[in-house]
Amino acid sequence: MTSNTEKRKMNEECGVFGIFNHKDAASIAFHALNALQHRGQEGAGIVSSDGTTLKQRKNEGLVRNVFSGDDLEALKGIHAIGHVRYSISSHGGIMNVQPLLFHSQTGSLGLCHNGNIVNATILKDHLEQQGSIFQTTSDTEIIAHLIKRHRGTMLERLKESLLYLEGAFAFLLLLEDEMYVALDKHGLRPLSLGKMDNGAIVVASETCAFDAIKAVFLRDVSPGEVLMIKDGQLISEDYSQEKRQQMCMMEYVYFSRPDSQIEGINVYYARKACGARLAKEAPVDCDIVIGVPDSGMSAAVGYSQASNIPLELGMIKNKSAERTFIEPSQDLREEAVSLKISTIRSVIEGKRVVLIDDSIVRGTTIKQLIRLLKGAGAKEIHIRIASPEIRYPCFYGVDFSTYSELISAHKTVAEVQEIIQADSLAFLSIKGMIEAVGRKPNQYCLACFNGKYPIHLYQPIDEANLEIK
Ligand code: SF4
Repeated sequence: MTSNTEKRKMNEECGVFGIFNHKDAASIAFHALNALQHRGQEGAGIVSSDGTTLKQRKNEGLVRNVFSGDDLEALKGIHAIGHVRYSISSHGGIMNVQPLLFHSQTGSLGLCHNGNIVNATILKDHLEQQGSIFQTTSDTEIIAHLIKRHRGTMLERLKESLLYLEGAFAFLLLLEDEMYVALDKHGLRPLSLGKMDNGAIVVASETCAFDAIKAVFLRDVSPGEVLMIKDGQLISEDYSQEKRQQMCMMEYVYFSRPDSQIEGINVYYARKACGARLAKEAPVDCDIVIGVPDSGMSAAVGYSQASNIPLELGMIKNKSAERTFIEPSQDLREEAVSLKISTIRSVIEGKRVVLIDDSIVRGTTIKQLIRLLKGAGAKEIHIRIASPEIRYPCFYGVDFSTYSELISAHKTVAEVQEIIQADSLAFLSIKGMIEAVGRKPNQYCLACFNGKYPIHLYQPIDEANLEIK
């Protein structure tokens, strides 16, 4: 886990959690959001309902800093939705921290979202021309305006509204005594359904949140599915018939916690299998295997077991390194690495090291880690990456949306090796990654690896290099 507002190597837009019909709904949401903290560290919020009134508490910062005991007491109710945020498509600030809360003469609506709506600008322009005034710069708010413009039951209006949206989204909506859940028709983001002992329904971006609150996993929400939870019933309908699962491969590679299950596959085992496959595809004669903490640890176990090279703890995270706000500039990213990680010299000195990481985005982190290993006396440093080169930007809710910030976008493996100053560098193949994770090739989004975007892109791709693959 990174500290307060510190940037991870790459960032997911958000994590969501919802609970319906439990006397401790807000406290349970707090614990579940803590378990989802890795998905967003810039802000957190909860909207709860006692059955008649919605209440909200949200702020910038980590979950544990946003909610005091008094806040949770004030949020006491029987239903709640919550959110952890990392902002990519709109500016930060309290205004955009979710859940958003809207009040109208017909009732109130709490709303939160994980993902990115790729036609947001077009929809916002259209809605503003029709008289909408937006409270935030977040794309999440669009759905509330669309719902308001349709007629019928809430379920009918929501289904109609979702048809306008293109992109990756997992929505949770809370009314006074109803909750709605919706997943985009490509199922790009994970969203799971569970149950608590008392029968309360829970929904979360990752199953690790269920473990934190002792809920039982029921099933994953399906692409294009809308759930209505109301009057003791859970009703499932599809908002679109054009649905096809294309789970973000990066959820397996990097975003999700190792203890989460995504579509029946445990994330730790997926990463370990990628490491084992990498050992077969890119063997190297070395003395020890080291995993980059924490992101490369699971793959390092797989690489070590498949290669019979001993796994050692050569690097540790400095848990006490308290950070102040870090601007995402290159200099500060580099400084952050050496403050966060220490080497164990007696493990590394004089050794030929295979260093395993899950991925390379900008190259900054791995370059710094190589410097640290050299400083600790490593004889050779061979970098093995348990995913393919990231050569294309992501427009579906991850914070690398330009070619210019990807070290592998226009460089060969040899050129990247030269820049990061490694003795050798190899990446897992796309085929190897797909086979290691274990689902069918057409069940993933692989766009950042192969440039084949499953959802039409509406916005200019990269202001520096306007190219659409
Ligand atoms: S482009 Fe990459 S990071 Fe973005 S959704 Fe697809 S697999 Fe995930």
